[in-house]
Parts: sequence; structure tokens; C-alpha cells
Amino acid sequence: MQVTARAPSSTANLGPGFDVFGLALDAFFDEITLTKTRAGITIITEDNIPLSPSKNTAGLVVAYMKKRFKVKSGVQIKIRKGVPAGYGMGSSAASAAATAVAFDRLFRLYLDGNTLVECAGVGERASAGSIHYDNVSASVLGGFVIVRTKPLDVIRITPPADLRLCVAVPKLKVPPKKTEVSRSVIPKQVNLSDSVKNLSNAAAIVAGFLKKDSTMIGTSIQDVIVEPARQHLIPGFSAVKKNALRAGALGVTISGAGPSVIAFATKKSDLAKIATSMKNGFATAKTDCDVIVCKPSSGARITK
Ligand code: ADP
Repeated sequence: MQVTARAPSSTANLGPGFDVFGLALDAFFDEITLTKTRAGITIITEDNIPLSPSKNTAGLVVAYMKKRFKVKSGVQIKIRKGVPAGYGMGSSAASAAATAVAFDRLFRLYLDGNTLVECAGVGERASAGSIHYDNVSASVLGGFVIVRTKPLDVIRITPPADLRLCVAVPKLKVPPKKTEVSRSVIPKQVNLSDSVKNLSNAAAIVAGFLKKDSTMIGTSIQDVIVEPARQHLIPGFSAVKKNALRAGALGVTISGAGPSVIAFATKKSDLAKIATSMKNGFATAKTDCDVIVCKPSSGARITK
């Protein structure tokens, strides 16, 4: 009658992998409890997210899965947010991922990974205005993911055990359509030379994950296309990045559509020093932030 699942936060893009790369992070988790009811879809939550099922990622996922798998029963969705919404940590995706996994168990569908990602991806329309699979893939499957679409095909790679991340989440008021705004500033066309630079770095990131080489991953987090176009949306970004690199981070970029900034490092790095340097970077723009030191996470799972 009732199933609970939890799903991790995630970072999308990892610099040059715009709309393609995702990495699940154990920084935050969303918990979703689905209960069978007589009819309809209802949402209960104490968090500041839409209550209407057509505007909430979890509600959209349930509506889609009910229709696709011809489920007659109603569903009550209880959402406990751990992932802060709108900060580039894959918040709406975490709710969607946990919902897809819980629904699969509640109605004994035994779906494969790609199908669960497809179902969870439907929820992203509520937040980003269009479907993107980078955050949901990471949140459903865990680890590092490469998203190919049409047809959807997600490649998952287990990250190296010594990879560490420092995520600075600024205490800013995020605009309601943040993801759409941050997508609107991206160039429609790119130089071939910029595309070559990004492609070489993206390829090196994939090689780093396959070779379990965190230094190769971290030093390849360099994006000459999207980050330069977006960084003005994040006050203090260049100071945060410069400080973190000086403190020993291997690479630094915007997490997803921002405004969080993510630094890549290893277990051996001075993580406390990197965290403080990022806080000081945001302070130059009179912005406070929380810095979370975290690791890659496994994917969404049933907890009850
Ligand atoms: P980010 O990936 O930066 O966290 P999201 O893509 O998650 O940003 O978008 C957050 C937006 O999605 C907010 O405007 C929020 O109101 C909306 N939203 C809808 N459903 C949810 C949900 N279940 N959890 C979080 N945000 C949701």
C-alpha cells in the first residue's frame, strides 16, 4: 500500500558536458512516500514547492506513469525535501527520481534503468520548461552518467573512490524561472575552436572516470562555451573560482544552471581550505553561502 524511496542531489554539465553529463552527489537527499488511494493524485509536503500535481515534478511523474502503465489506483505523494530547490543541485530531479523508483515498486512494474530515467525525466518539464535527463539520470542511477537521447540511452560509470567535491550554495533569492533564464543566455552558435576545446575536455572527463583518475577528471573541468556566458548571473563567481583553484581545487565550474559553484578535488586535497576559500570568494560579492564537502552517491533506492 505504501513505499518510500530516497534519491540524491546531483550536479549537471561538469563544465564541458552541457546537457550530457551528470554526477550524483551525497550532499542532500529527497524522500518520497507514495501511498495507494481510491482515485486521483494528491501531494502533501511542508516544503516550499508547488502543491499542484501538474506543477510538481513528483506529480508529473506519477501522472505519466499512471497513464503509461495503465494504473487505475489513486496515489498520494508525500514529499520531504532535502535538496534545496533552484540552486543547481538537481532538486526537482531528486523528487522525480525517487518518485519513479517508488512507483515502480508500489505497482510492481520491474522497469529497467533507462525506462525509470525516461519516466523521471517527464517531471523536469515542471521546473526547466523542457525535458533534460542529466540530473534525473544521475539521481536515478547514481554515479557518473552520460546521456544520449533519441532514443534515450544512459551510460553509467562508477566514479573513482577518492573523488571529492566542494559545493558552495549561495544564499541568494533564486528567480522562479531560473533554469529558463540561465538557458536563455547561452550562445545559439559556437566557434569550432571552442567546440574542439570543450570536446577534448569532455572526452578527458569520460576517460578519467573510466581510468578512475580523479586528477584527470578535475583538471578537465574546463568549459569555454557555457560557463563564460552564464557566470555573470552568479555574483562573485570569478573570485570563488580563483580562490578555490588557489586553495588546491583541480577544477571549478557552475553546478548545473547555478547558482551553486562546484569544485573538484580528491580525498588528499585540503578540502577545508577549499571550502573556506569558496566562502571568502562569495563574501567579495557580499553573499553568504553554505559549502558542502561531498562524494559521488549511489542512485535512488527504496527505504521502506
Ligand atoms: P535545480 O536543479 O537548480 O535545483 P530545479 O530544476 O530543481 O532547480 O528547479 C526548481 C524549480 O522546480 C522550483 O521553481 C520549484 O518550485 C520547482 N519544483 C517543482 N516540483 C519540485 C519538486 N518536487 N522539488 C523541487 N522543486 C520543484
